[in-house]
Amino acid sequence: METARPLEACGLLIGTMTSSEHVVIRIAPIENLASGEGAFELEPSAWHRAELAAREEGLAVLGVWHSHPKTSAEPSARDLTGAQAGWSHLICAAKGESAFRSYYSLAGELLEQELH
Ligand SMILES: [Zn+2]
Repeated sequence: METARPLEACGLLIGTMTSSEHVVIRIAPIENLASGEGAFELEPSAWHRAELAAREEGLAVLGVWHSHPKTSAEPSARDLTGAQAGWSHLICAAKGESAFRSYYSLAGELLEQELH
């Protein structure tokens, strides 16, 4: 994450899922193609490779993580519109009282998830 500052760092959350939980086993860093601050766009071929590698291990892509180098871990308006349904969206913030917060995308809303 440090190397990407002040731009956002991003990647995929890889793991397993149960009916009620996403269990993240590892994170895959993916290059951010977005040029401006406050945005991220996963590089598609690295995304594809990470997804294939996960499947070979019997794992799945559970969602996406990205950093907020200048703001708290609240999702931005852009995070909400860009959210993928059924995915977990983990935000790592450099500011704010809670450095890591995660949100599940359901019916156009981001619902905060419990992290443990
Ligand atoms: Zn964001």
